[in-house]
Amino acid sequence: MRRDIFSEEHELFRAQFRRFVEKEVEPKVPEWNARGMSDRETWRRAGAEGFLGANQPVEYGGAGGDFLYDAIVMEELARVRAHALMISLHSDICLPYVVSFGSEEQKRRYVPGAIAGEILLGIAMTEPGTGSDLASVQTRALRDGGHYVLNGAKTFISNGQIGDLFIVVAKTDPEAKPPHKGISLILVEASTPGFVRGRKLDKLGLRGQDTSELFFQDCRVPISNRLGGEGQGFRMLMEKLQQERLCIGVASIASCRRALEDTLQYVRERHAFGQPIARFQNTQFKLAELASEVEIGQAFVDKLLLAHVRGDDIVSEVSMAKWWTTELQKRLTSECLQLHGGYGFMREYPISEDYADAAVQSIYAGTNEVMKLIIARRLGLG
Ligand SMILES: Cc1cc2nc3c(=O)[nH]c(=O)nc-3n(C[C@H](O)[C@H](O)[C@H](O)COP(=O)(O)OP(=O)(O)OC[C@H]3O[C@@H](n4cnc5c(N)ncnc54)[C@H](O)[C@@H]3O)c2cc1C
Repeated sequence: MRRDIFSEEHELFRAQFRRFVEKEVEPKVPEWNARGMSDRETWRRAGAEGFLGANQPVEYGGAGGDFLYDAIVMEELARVRAHALMISLHSDICLPYVVSFGSEEQKRRYVPGAIAGEILLGIAMTEPGTGSDLASVQTRALRDGGHYVLNGAKTFISNGQIGDLFIVVAKTDPEAKPPHKGISLILVEASTPGFVRGRKLDKLGLRGQDTSELFFQDCRVPISNRLGGEGQGFRMLMEKLQQERLCIGVASIASCRRALEDTLQYVRERHAFGQPIARFQNTQFKLAELASEVEIGQAFVDKLLLAHVRGDDIVSEVSMAKWWTTELQKRLTSECLQLHGGYGFMREYPISEDYADAAVQSIYAGTNEVMKLIIARRLGLG
């Protein structure tokens, strides 16, 4: 079904980005997956071609477009399974914090470089002892003269090895009551003494991503590196999570499409009992159901994209989309793997990778259980 949310300019951008992906990204995916990270040169090329700041203000080097351009980038990367190149994390999740809450000096210092692909971004919220319960983070950023001194450990941090600048969630007032009022966001450059990269973690899926541990050991940064007001970190995080969760919905549906297309092709080619397995009613019913759900999911995500571009408060709805699309992705990749038979279990068939990659979608950017808590709260239940 033709999607009616994109203008002619969006479609031109998609064609342009698809050409870039086919030439500069897709051929490198196997190497990135083997190495567990992307490469800086590709980021620079993406920046030089204007693919990192489509939605960012012109005055800092962006193209001043809307969020639909970023959605296109996510969809095209999902189409070639280029999970290693986390443009969405960089441009749609991290950069908006600096653009929205940064001082003029911070914006001038970091935003043009980020849009050019020279300064790669990450966000460090999760710690070994706390993920969902963000208000309980233990990393501290305590004042000492004109500096904050950071101490603590973070884990599961995307872009952990390749990143140059991290938005660190830390307690500037560990005694604050309620605890979330003691949280601030601090910008930490990876070159700062006391910033230590830990292990690149060995994962089930998303093998091209450099998900890592980070440590802060008496890491001193100027007070002016704080984003927004002291104690305002939690509020800023809540404000930006809508977009982060919408990104997951967009990428989930795009990944579903890819897995479905490959499976449709496979069932036409694979024969059993003298006929293509596509002829079995079970195959037809399964794929008919999954194709229906992908279209239904796409319709909802498209509606949310338009609402997000308008600036509506759709926290409940993006939470609904996040849990629903990611559960669909997990179910769809499992069913599609089953239709591949034993080959589905072999690493040489991308569906095996799709199945492993899908597992994390219901965990990060807020677990699906947390999504349901948000929805329930907004329904007036507790
Ligand atoms: C590949 C990958 C990349 C990531 N990238 C980043 C990153 O770049 N930056 C970053 O900061 N973090 C990142 N994360 C971390 C991710 O956001 C957390 O793993 C996630 O928020 C869950 O936290 P947790 O792992 O501590 O699980 P926990 O919070 O310990 O949850 C364990 C289980 O308990 C459930 N649970 C917890 N609280 C409740 C509740 N109140 N009610 C019901 N159930 C509950 C959860 O839903 C879950 O099923 C990444 C994780 C992965 C796997």
